Amino acid sequence: MGSNSGQLHIFFFPLMGHGHLIPTMDMAKLFAARGVKATIITTPRKVPLFSKTHGINIDIQIIKFPAVEAGLPEGCENIDSVTSLDMSHKFIKATKMLQQPLEQLLEEYQPSCLVADLFFPWATDVAAKFGIPRLVFGGTSFFSQSSQHSLQLYEPHKKVFSDSEPFVIPSFPGEIKLTRMQLPDFTLQEVETDFSKLLEEAMESEFTSYGVVVNSFYELEPAYADHYRKVLGIKAWHIGPVSLCNKDAEDKAQRGKEASIDEHECLKWLSTKKLNSVIYICFGSMPNFSDSQLFELAMGLEASEQQFIWVVRKGKNEKEEEDWLPKGFEERMEGKGLIIRGWAPQVLILDHEAVEGFVTHCGWNSTLEGVASGVPMVTWPMASEQFYNEKLITQVLKIGISVGAQQWTRVVDGIKREAIERAMRQILVGEEAARAKALGEMARRAVEEGGSSYSDLNALIEALRLHCP
Ligand code: UDP
Repeated sequence: MGSNSGQLHIFFFPLMGHGHLIPTMDMAKLFAARGVKATIITTPRKVPLFSKTHGINIDIQIIKFPAVEAGLPEGCENIDSVTSLDMSHKFIKATKMLQQPLEQLLEEYQPSCLVADLFFPWATDVAAKFGIPRLVFGGTSFFSQSSQHSLQLYEPHKKVFSDSEPFVIPSFPGEIKLTRMQLPDFTLQEVETDFSKLLEEAMESEFTSYGVVVNSFYELEPAYADHYRKVLGIKAWHIGPVSLCNKDAEDKAQRGKEASIDEHECLKWLSTKKLNSVIYICFGSMPNFSDSQLFELAMGLEASEQQFIWVVRKGKNEKEEEDWLPKGFEERMEGKGLIIRGWAPQVLILDHEAVEGFVTHCGWNSTLEGVASGVPMVTWPMASEQFYNEKLITQVLKIGISVGAQQWTRVVDGIKREAIERAMRQILVGEEAARAKALGEMARRAVEEGGSSYSDLNALIEALRLHCP
């Protein structure tokens, strides 16, 4: 079983980006709570992120990333800080340099299993060298993982005549339509690159590894969970929403970076608001908005006449001038809107009874956190696999309204204030809220004893115990 005591010991090795690190931390907590020894492997600067485990014992092992040798800027050990396409590809490719140090750690600690990020396809062979199973963690939904396989297999995007002509995802439940404009730039690349090869290997590793751990719950996407397992034939366990393992305010407040607002101050502000009266606006850990887009968003917010908490990744500059904010905006919004500059305690906010809606970029963690909190969403996808997640929210689950973003992009621009105002008003009066609330209850039941995710986590632990006698 790897560890001396006969206890199951799992090594978790996430990609160095908040969208991967945060759910890994939750996953490790979930396993640890079931008596499994959990160790997270990460780069030096990410260690503080894992320091607040509140009584749950999780080990951290440091792995050093030779960024400069990999052609990246000194100190670059985090994908959130690279913004260009070229750099993020370079970063992910460079993580292959971690193979040797990972092998050293496996040699030394002899864990029973390795849960490694989808972006580390080489980890399957590394685990095999040590005779242990490798599980894949992709950090997204059954829906989006399956749709990407469909696109890779059938290439429907190559059979349309323009970037805006919709196509249906083939051999996939639910007549889901997309356009070429909504696909990631790397999916559209015609020539084979090192990065496209890596992605192919990553998708292949879902089939060739021991199986896939999915942060989702069965009742959320049964047709797609079945499709993934039965049609694609991938062995998978759903164990989410993993964020629900954070029960008290402190756990909910301290996920990812240090929050830029004191949790008590935030709760105090929310406590002055009526039940279901505040909209929370946040676009994940890597938003990149043009100043004019931020300005339009502020105008849309004001026009919607809603109370809000808006998370902006910009700090005030020395002159305290903010060209992206309409003149006098904060004074006019006093008491009505709260701007958090930096990092927000997202789960704490979403779970507050005053919050009634979520404007989101449809990152999978945010999506699932919104689902778990039972709030309807305004969807504003930008990059990664967010346009797939938007389809799940708006077309399948019908718990969200789209702001109308049509273009996959690394710098967000072009959404007009009227579209923002319309979606924010509509979300409050539509049927989405009731459906979202019901789904939130299902999410909670899924992780409770006897629930679908609770049982699947048990099944996974059992399978690993049998595999590693
Ligand atoms: N998050 C947070 N505060 C912020 C921004 C993000 O706590 O101000 C957390 C959020 O709760 C989620 C993660 O960061 O767990 C973002 O992951 P997601 O998959 O939604 O988006 P990504 O950052 O990968 O685009």
